[in-house]
Amino acid sequence: MAGAYDVIVVGVGGMGSAACYHLAKRGSRVLGLERFDVPHSFGSSHGTTRIMRLAYFESPAYVPFVRRALELWKETEKAYGEQIYFRTGGIDAAREDNAVFRGSLESCRAHDLPHKVLTADEANRRFPGYRLPDGHLAVFQPDGGFIASERAILAHVTLAQAAGAEIHCREKMIDWQPVAGGGVRVRTDRATYEAGRLIVAAGAWIGELVPDLALISVPERQVLGWFQPAEPKHFRPDEFPVLVLIVDEGFFYATPIWGVPGLKIGRYHHRNERGPADSLSREVDAADEAPLRHAAARYFNGADGPLMALKTCLFTITPDEHFIIDTLPGQPEVIVASPCSGHGFKFSSVIGEILADLARDGKTSADLSQFRLGRFSAQPA
Ligand SMILES: Cc1cc2nc3c(=O)[nH]c(=O)nc-3n(C[C@H](O)[C@H](O)[C@H](O)COP(=O)(O)OP(=O)(O)OC[C@H]3O[C@@H](n4cnc5c(N)ncnc54)[C@H](O)[C@@H]3O)c2cc1C
Repeated sequence: MAGAYDVIVVGVGGMGSAACYHLAKRGSRVLGLERFDVPHSFGSSHGTTRIMRLAYFESPAYVPFVRRALELWKETEKAYGEQIYFRTGGIDAAREDNAVFRGSLESCRAHDLPHKVLTADEANRRFPGYRLPDGHLAVFQPDGGFIASERAILAHVTLAQAAGAEIHCREKMIDWQPVAGGGVRVRTDRATYEAGRLIVAAGAWIGELVPDLALISVPERQVLGWFQPAEPKHFRPDEFPVLVLIVDEGFFYATPIWGVPGLKIGRYHHRNERGPADSLSREVDAADEAPLRHAAARYFNGADGPLMALKTCLFTITPDEHFIIDTLPGQPEVIVASPCSGHGFKFSSVIGEILADLARDGKTSADLSQFRLGRFSAQPA
């Protein structure tokens, strides 16, 4: 046996790195196991930026979580000494009857979030990088922005290590077993360890490690494109709010120039390619670039210049596209988190805090009712 810990965290990406930090800060003996590097480009958290939205069209119930997440990002950047959250303002733009526009507005109203509704013309004049189509309306929420995602992981890992956490990279969990009298035994490709609790935050691989999640956390290939705009100043963080845009061609999202010299654009569910994480191609081709370049040309002002980068990334999709954060049925020593359906990174700070609560105290004051596993078994087959 290589060592005994209070908690082993499998997967040191977005969620796992935050869990390691919050656990170590509270004095737990933590081991974080990561099969690749910290950070790396095979999972869900790379590509420099992730949108931070408080106006939460998916459900107003996320707003208290995102508020707490933002507080924690600010605390973490202070402790780490580098900026992690960049406030640019955020826009959710769609036709008036679209669920994204309506949901975004509803969450602003339900939670008294400062916001303004702009016509397409008003938005395009105020933010010259935009070219929203006629008839669209935009919810502008000034606290929207982005999280520097790889920097956030680095911050959580560095702070966790400073608080005593052990982090092992290039070490893959093979399986785990309950131990008589409580706790778990974890076998990796290098050693075997024991701990009181196991947190599985393995992102797109979680369904391969946790049978209860096999059918309800499905990896999906995404592609991100960065295009050089003709006038970069209109696409910098001080002039370009992060954007969610619903148009005939799909659901697009965009963040300003940061880390890569181009406007970043992605299309939700890109080409609808799902399958085991290791089977999804990390190569990119012209068919990946085409819909992103089309959107860059049509919905932004001179943004379809030379390609600066094109990268794949993985979503982990649940049937209702809400998160799963729970203990396993009949196995309270095993906690699962991370199928976040393509919108989880902004929450990783607060999810780390919640995972630390669950691992240390067996409960949390956060309302996890919408994230429980049981909601799927309750549905008719
Ligand atoms: C293209 C794209 C755009 C997105 N945009 C946004 C956005 O704008 N805003 C937002 O909030 N969210 C966004 N998301 C979603 C967000 O990025 C994810 O919800 C988040 O990164 C998931 O974090 P995670 O910790 O679950 O996964 P990861 O960060 O991938 O971490 C899981 C880790 O587990 C490791 N692992 C797996 N198996 C093992 C094993 N057996 N042993 C050891 N380690 C293992 C992996 O190597 C990986 O490092 C986006 C996602 C993508 C792909």
